[in-house]
Amino acid sequence: MSQTVTSAQAIELENKYGAHNYHPLPVVLAKGEGVYVWDVEGKKYYDFLSAYSAVNQGHCHPVIVKAIADQAATLALTSRAFYNDKLGIYEEKITKLFGFDKVLPMNSGAEAVETALKLCRKWAYEVKGIAENQAKIIVCENNFHGRTTTIISFSNDPDARKNYGPYTDGFIRVAYNDIDALKAAMEANKGNIAGFLVEPIQGEAGVYVPDAGYLTAAKELCKQNNALFIADEVQTGIARTGKMLAIDHENIKADILVLGKALSGGAYPISAVLANDEVMNVIKPGQHGSTFGGNPTAAAVAMAALDVVLDEKLADNAEKLGQLFRAELNKYIANSNICTLVRGKGLLNAIIINDTEESDTAWNICLKLRDNGLLAKPTHGNIIRFAPPLVMNEEQLLDCVRIITETLKEFER
Ligand SMILES: *Cc1c(COP(=O)(O)O)cnc(C)c1O
Repeated sequence: MSQTVTSAQAIELENKYGAHNYHPLPVVLAKGEGVYVWDVEGKKYYDFLSAYSAVNQGHCHPVIVKAIADQAATLALTSRAFYNDKLGIYEEKITKLFGFDKVLPMNSGAEAVETALKLCRKWAYEVKGIAENQAKIIVCENNFHGRTTTIISFSNDPDARKNYGPYTDGFIRVAYNDIDALKAAMEANKGNIAGFLVEPIQGEAGVYVPDAGYLTAAKELCKQNNALFIADEVQTGIARTGKMLAIDHENIKADILVLGKALSGGAYPISAVLANDEVMNVIKPGQHGSTFGGNPTAAAVAMAALDVVLDEKLADNAEKLGQLFRAELNKYIANSNICTLVRGKGLLNAIIINDTEESDTAWNICLKLRDNGLLAKPTHGNIIRFAPPLVMNEEQLLDCVRIITETLKEFER
């Protein structure tokens, strides 16, 4: 018999038996469908976070649920010691869709970023010809690329870094959205730059959208310096910002593309690194891998998740609803003291709350939003990210705008 819990009991159990590495909003979810989730007591909410943009296709999308159920009941895991009958079909599909020669399948976003960094370094030594251990990868201030020891080594978030040293060497951090800073770093290390790792929009940092042209100029600098342009689209990719990839807004192509989160529609941890042969062929058998990466369940789920995005034209919907969302919120902000700004692209947006980063105003607004039937969470102190599933319709979005603005009204002073 399965055990049932009340919300209070579920929270108490997590507090008592789980590591305290998160501080969740107090709501206990038990069910999801499309843009909605339900708590243990049956209260219904709009999900305005989408598991950090992993659930772009909506909760429990029937096409994705069928793919995972069918494949799990047929063959779930072989490891890469053997071939399986789904992986090759998936690899052809995803490489053709994004225009690369090859894909390397992994599971979490952090693993895919790690893979991209290893690939970039190996390419730098074996193709570009940088001297042993001299390769530098440029990253941005306030980046978020995951939680591994190497990735947090080049973070500047004290929470992410403190007492996890010694740190991995070989990274240079420059200001985000500052092409001169990138240029200077490349010139100061001429000949030793392996690549530039960037989020096309900084999600965790608070949905910072760089100036138009920044990414194009960065890509051009990489080309001039024979360095790889590595786009971390784990959060921005798969239609979230109104195009299949956020870099599609500038019509540029990455040398290494990193995908995760919505690549599975939230059903399964699936990530991927895409590159052309010149780069990908530096990795040979035994030099990188993952027991679960590229398993038949993941392959089937990712194909279904991509089909849903394409068949339901979710990128177009994200673009259209994103415009509407920012326009509606801007009408409210024009006469607001508590909310000063809405920014974002497609359905990856954030509002700025007029209070200090240390204040708990944004947290309290999220508690009130919850009471009013909408779930969102602050990213940093006074910034609230809004990222609903992309299967939302206009009527639902306007209903959400109503909930958000009526909640904000309660905080006006
Ligand atoms: C979430 C995220 C990651 C890490 O993904 P995990 O699956 O949590 O390891 C990496 N990069 C970006 C931009 C992300 O948003």
